[in-house]
Amino acid sequence: VFQLSVPLNFLGSVYRELRQSLLDMETLFNLQKVNVSIKEAPDAKALQLSHGGQIIFDNVSFAYNKNRPILRNLTMTIPAGKKVAIVGPSGCGKSTLLRLLFRFYDADTGRIFIDDQDVRQVTLESLRKSIGVVPQDTPLFNDTVGHNIRYGDLEASESQVVAAAQRARIHDIISSWPAGYATKVGERGMMISGGEKQRLAVSRLLLKDPPLLFFDEATSALDTHTEQALMQNINSILREKSRTSVFVAHRLRTIYDADLIIVLKEGSVAEQGTHKELIDRGGLYSELWSTQETLFSSDGSEKEVVTTD
Ligand code: ATP
Repeated sequence: VFQLSVPLNFLGSVYRELRQSLLDMETLFNLQKVNVSIKEAPDAKALQLSHGGQIIFDNVSFAYNKNRPILRNLTMTIPAGKKVAIVGPSGCGKSTLLRLLFRFYDADTGRIFIDDQDVRQVTLESLRKSIGVVPQDTPLFNDTVGHNIRYGDLEASESQVVAAAQRARIHDIISSWPAGYATKVGERGMMISGGEKQRLAVSRLLLKDPPLLFFDEATSALDTHTEQALMQNINSILREKSRTSVFVAHRLRTIYDADLIIVLKEGSVAEQGTHKELIDRGGLYSELWSTQETLFSSDGSEKEVVTTD
C-alpha cells in the first residue's frame, strides 16, 4: 500500500500540473510557435500590477527570420484599465505582439514593459498568469464542456462555471444538449461550431479573470447579432472591473467603441486615436472603415462577412 500510494499521489500532482500546463499552452496560440530558448532571468521577480496593467512597447523590432522583419521600431502604450484595439492588414504582426508580450519570443531590439517592469525581468509564471487570451483558434480538450470551461480556473465551483458560460452567451446552448455540461467535446467532435468554440474560450477566460485580457479575433466566427450581444457582455465586465484589454479584430464594428485604436502597417504604428479622431484624420483607418461600412445595410445588419484584408 505504502509503495503504491506514493507514486499515485505523485501522479495526481503531475496530472494537475499537466492540466495547468495545458492551460498555459492554450496561450501559445499555436504550439509549433513555441520557442524553448526563452529563459527566465536568474533574478526574476513576480510581476506586480501596481499601476493597473499599463503595457508599453518601446521601439520594438522583431523578425522570426532575420531577412524578414515583422515589427519595426514599434512604439505604443496600452493604457491601464482601457479597452484598446489593434487593427491592420493580415500578416502585419498583431498576433506577434501578443507572443512577445507573453515571451514566447523576445524582441530583437527594444523593450516591453508591464507597469514599468521589463517582461524579461519577471518570472514567466507570473507573467503568463496575469495575461489571459482568447486565441484565434481555441484548442478544446477531449473532456466535458464543463471541464473545458473550468480550465480557466481549476478551483471554480459549478455555479461559477455556469455564470461564466452565461456571460459568454453559451449557457443556453449547452443546456439544450442532452448531457448539458457533461457533454464530451470529443463525442460531439465537429458538432461544436466555430462560434460555440469561441464562446467556450471566452467562458474560460472570464472564469480565469486575469488582470490583462487579449482577444485575438475572438468573435470572428459569430454572426453579427451574437457577436454584438457577446461584446456588450464583455464590455460591461471590463468596465466594471477596469481591466486592461486588447482586441485584435478585422471587423471594425466590434472595436469602434474602444478607448484607443492603434493601426499597424508594415510592423509599426501608422496612426492611433479614438474612432472619431481617426475618421476625422482621413487616413488608413478611415479608409478601412468606409470599405467595411458600405458592406453594411442601413439597419446595421451585415450584408456579408467583411474583413480588413
Ligand atoms: P492575421 O491578422 O492574419 O492574424 P497578424 O497581423 O496577426 O495576422 P502575425 O500572426 O503576427 O500576423 O504574423 C506576422 C507575420 O509573421 C506573418 O507574415 C506570418 O506569416 C509570420 N510568422 C508568424 N509566425 C511565424 C513563425 N513562427 N515563423 C516565421 N514566420 C512567422
